[in-house]
Amino acid sequence: MPSLASRQGALSTIPGAVPLPKDMPQGCRFSTRCPFAAERCHRERPPLRALNQSPHHVACFFAPLENHFTLSAEGACA
Ligand code: SF4
Repeated sequence: MPSLASRQGALSTIPGAVPLPKDMPQGCRFSTRCPFAAERCHRERPPLRALNQSPHHVACFFAPLENHFTLSAEGACA
C-alpha cells in the first residue's frame, strides 16, 4: 500500500489526453501516448504480471524499461 511518508517527488506524466472509453486503443491502453510504444503495443493488450520479485504488478511488454531501453535523465529513450 502506498504511504504518504515515503513520497519521492512528483509522478511523471505522459503527454496527450486520455481517450474516451468508447475510443480506447485495441492494444495497450497507453499505446497512442506512450513514447516507448512498439508495433506489438498497438495490436496486443499486455497481460498483468508480477514485476520481478516485488509485490508490484505491471501490464507492459517492456517493463522494467531499463531492461529494454537506454534511458536519459528525463526518462525518454535514447
Ligand atoms: S505495453 Fe508498455 S511500452 Fe507498450 S504502449 Fe503499453 S506502456 Fe508503452
